[in-house]
Amino acid sequence: MSQTIRAAFPALSRPGFHYLDNAAMAQIPGLVSEAIASLNRVARSNVRRGLHEAALRADEAYDSARATVGRFLNAPAEEVVFTGGCTLALNMAAWGLGRKLGPGDEVALSRLEHHSACLPWMSLAEDRGFAIRWLPVTHEGRLDLDHLGAIVTPCCKVVAVTHASNVTGAVSDLPRLAEAAHGVGARLVVDGAQMVPHGRVDPRSLGADLYAFSGHKAYGPTGIGVLWGRAEVLQSMTPMVVGGGMVDAVGDDDVTWADPPHRFEAGTPPVAQAVGLAAALDWMMSLDGQEIHQQEAALTWHLLDGLGSMAGVKIVGPRGLEARVPVVSFTVEGCHPHDLAHLLAERGVAVRGGAHCARPLMAALGLEEGTLRASLAPYSDRSDVEALLVGLAEAVKVLR
Ligand code: PMP
Repeated sequence: MSQTIRAAFPALSRPGFHYLDNAAMAQIPGLVSEAIASLNRVARSNVRRGLHEAALRADEAYDSARATVGRFLNAPAEEVVFTGGCTLALNMAAWGLGRKLGPGDEVALSRLEHHSACLPWMSLAEDRGFAIRWLPVTHEGRLDLDHLGAIVTPCCKVVAVTHASNVTGAVSDLPRLAEAAHGVGARLVVDGAQMVPHGRVDPRSLGADLYAFSGHKAYGPTGIGVLWGRAEVLQSMTPMVVGGGMVDAVGDDDVTWADPPHRFEAGTPPVAQAVGLAAALDWMMSLDGQEIHQQEAALTWHLLDGLGSMAGVKIVGPRGLEARVPVVSFTVEGCHPHDLAHLLAERGVAVRGGAHCARPLMAALGLEEGTLRASLAPYSDRSDVEALLVGLAEAVKVLR
């Protein structure tokens, strides 16, 4: 299966190229590039403004892209907001729900969060005077929910967590978090950046109120992200970014925002990127999700097993396959992750070394130098994992 999938990705035809940095950015299938090129050939126009033929085609393509994202998330199109990326979507979520919070209110964040998910709340908290409460992690880099009841109290207005960690690969128990949040009247905001690339997600049934992800990690282009929200939650939020195309009326002293999703799409939206993202999600939906899951799990096991048998290697994250995505972090005694990443790059193996924009987690796990991270996609195969294991053994010999 991975070979058929691999053939759809032009960048992967380069001999000796072992791409294991998918958590940072996935490769793009040829059909996504073609969908973008085709839009630019026949329907390059602004949307929701023009009446000429190209404008009408662009409108249709943009609306259809929104419907496709809705299908992927099992949600109505009106609940899908296109943004410039996951970071922007998460900032918009924090602004929309956090702007009116103040002293006495609390927001619960987890120590697994990417900076894009925790900093919007931390900077707003500094401004508005509400408090941040941190959900701890276990030594395996999973959310430790034993303290959920003590942290998510009636003062808590929002629980913001990642669906899957970009460092440890651990998947959060969203239904349990939703139950705790909703039990005290709080909203659940979820960062889905690392979950969406591995299959369809139904955020409503998982209990999320807002759910964000990026296009470029899900085989789509850069410059696009999504903020999904329950209709009533989006309706209750004020926009963070204001400008053209998102109001119903503007008076001297008052403004009537348009209904969602347009309320949150000020200015010219990323039309071509939205069409590219829709093509990527359509491509994902054409695959057998169960088969992809099994293939990624088998490869993750091979990687965990190989790393586990190397002296001085410590897995940072779950050792098993339960509730995890194929993102594997590890440290090697006596070797800096950046040195290892550099030596692996010389051997054609692309991995990521560092703190992965997750300083709160690095501090909690006592990993000041960060980790080395290998992350898989449906096109990854055994040759990629073998190249990493062999390259790592050689790199360690050089550094020790
Ligand atoms: N959250 C997580 C878990 C991520 O891994 C990333 C990307 N590294 C982001 C948020 C931010 O996504 P983007 O850079 O696309 O805005």
